[in-house]
Amino acid sequence: MAAAFESTEWIWRNGEMIRWEDATIHVLSHVVHYGSSVFEGIRCYKTPDGPAIFRLREHMRRFMDSAKIYRMELAPSLDTVAEACEAVVRMNNMDECYLRPIALRGYGSPGVNPLTCPVDVYVMCWYWGAYLGDEGITKGVDACISSWHRMAPNTFPSFAKAGGNYLSAQLMKMEAMANGYAEAIGLGPNGMLSEGSGQNLFLVRGGKLMTAALDGTFLPGITRDAVITIARDAGIEVIEAPLAREMIYIADEAFFTGTAAEITPIRSVDRIDVGNGAAGEIALMLQDKLLGIARGKYADKYGWLWPVKVEAGVV
Ligand code: PMP
Repeated sequence: MAAAFESTEWIWRNGEMIRWEDATIHVLSHVVHYGSSVFEGIRCYKTPDGPAIFRLREHMRRFMDSAKIYRMELAPSLDTVAEACEAVVRMNNMDECYLRPIALRGYGSPGVNPLTCPVDVYVMCWYWGAYLGDEGITKGVDACISSWHRMAPNTFPSFAKAGGNYLSAQLMKMEAMANGYAEAIGLGPNGMLSEGSGQNLFLVRGGKLMTAALDGTFLPGITRDAVITIARDAGIEVIEAPLAREMIYIADEAFFTGTAAEITPIRSVDRIDVGNGAAGEIALMLQDKLLGIARGKYADKYGWLWPVKVEAGVV
């Protein structure tokens, strides 16, 4: 099957730049059999002053946290991986792209014990448009509640962005698409709203913004944090609390947040219109503010942009 995206030229691997087509691994690598990788998804936006990576520091911190949870010792430091992110944007001449740093357990021994396998670190990038479609981001998407729950606390650590977690996300996504929905919303094991297959979830009711409190069933999103910050600054009350499933049916607005999905309004859930069945006003206002900062249209008052230096250099 042809790739559904365009490759770029260079990928960073363990301290050097290699060609895209050379970034291959052995089929007996630990990660292939046991899902043992941790990764990040980061966006770099085009600004009037050149490309800028959005919240790179926070993504690097989460990358290191994910590795720590899985007892994965990374040879490169946080700063080196951050510089590698910058370097792949520069080497591939991208003015806008999605970045994917990944640390994986490589080829070593075939058993479950991961500690006998080397850890390899890669950073790659490619162009990626609106994750849930151009129409989705402006008009909203149709979502469903998944029959698959998110992971229970103390099963798979939800604070780690680990490859294995995305098996559950794939079940959610495939079920949603099979039933004609763009995206799925997972409930936690207690039946409360948790997150999408690759996004956090927000509701609006009576002018207040609501999102699930960190409960070990979903990834603490960096976009989630950005939205909470922007909303509070705009004088909107933000409530982080357990949210019952039915609250999304009676919300005035709902939306997904994530690096790939950015802020995508949800216009219906289980074929029930959310509010009036269109993209919500507050969702679109927050989207404008977030993307406006990322693209340099509004001042970077929170220090979220990491400008990509123009001079050539390979980490
Ligand atoms: N939940 C899951 C399961 C995700 O994969 C993502 C995307 N990384 C998110 C939430 C949103 O996180 P972020 O805003 O940091 O991209």
